[in-house]
Amino acid sequence: MGFAEYYRAFPTYTDINSQEYRDRLENLEPLLMKYMKRRGKVLDLACGVGGFSFLLEDYGFEVVGLDISEEMISKAKMYAKEKSSNVEFIIGDAKKLPFEDNNFDYVIFIDSLVHFSPLELNQVFKEVKRVLKPTGKFIIYFTDMRELLPRLRESLVVGEKYWINKIIPDQEEKTVVIEFKSEENSFRVRFNVWGKTGVELLAKLYFNKEAQEKVGNYSYFIVYTPK
Ligand code: SAM
Repeated sequence: MGFAEYYRAFPTYTDINSQEYRDRLENLEPLLMKYMKRRGKVLDLACGVGGFSFLLEDYGFEVVGLDISEEMISKAKMYAKEKSSNVEFIIGDAKKLPFEDNNFDYVIFIDSLVHFSPLELNQVFKEVKRVLKPTGKFIIYFTDMRELLPRLRESLVVGEKYWINKIIPDQEEKTVVIEFKSEENSFRVRFNVWGKTGVELLAKLYFNKEAQEKVGNYSYFIVYTPK
């Protein structure tokens, strides 16, 4: 059971040339530009293979991408080479950032909440506040899984080959195990379940909300400033 198989199965997060990845970039590009008017230094937190880092570099930002997965970072570095990009990609843990205080004008955190328990996300937010300049912005984009989950159903097709075979929430619905199945194989992934209310309650400890945009039916783009 794990994320490695999940990321291998779906190009949405791992192939910047796939239609699914490009759709995500296109979807968020106007919002990022709306709230990132001033150029400066950006941390792309849990950057994956780096698509958002490259997008922001193209707009003139200085970007550092950090991710805990060696596989993601090595793919990001491969793309960087192809593109002659200057983005610095490093392996690191969002819960313990290898940066000094007051370092970044922006931290962006896109589509990554499913990896973090409440305790862990608290550590992440604390670290984000520490590395952000007092004038900086924290931009988070996530899907409200509490809203989405009841609408997911078994046998729903996901991507080209897979369908959801089983949905197994824990008793408190803090996590959910989803079994994906194809003609050839099946695998299970445990996701942390975050709703907008939970994210906002935690964020309130460290940040003030500057703006919020709803994207589609279940996703939110929220801009925070440090308290
Ligand atoms: N933000 C990227 C994007 O939108 O394409 C990647 C999103 S991907 C769904 C989530 C990423 O979070 C994965 O690349 C995973 O390796 C990373 N991740 C999980 N736990 C992490 C941690 N503790 N610190 C840093 N990155 C982490």
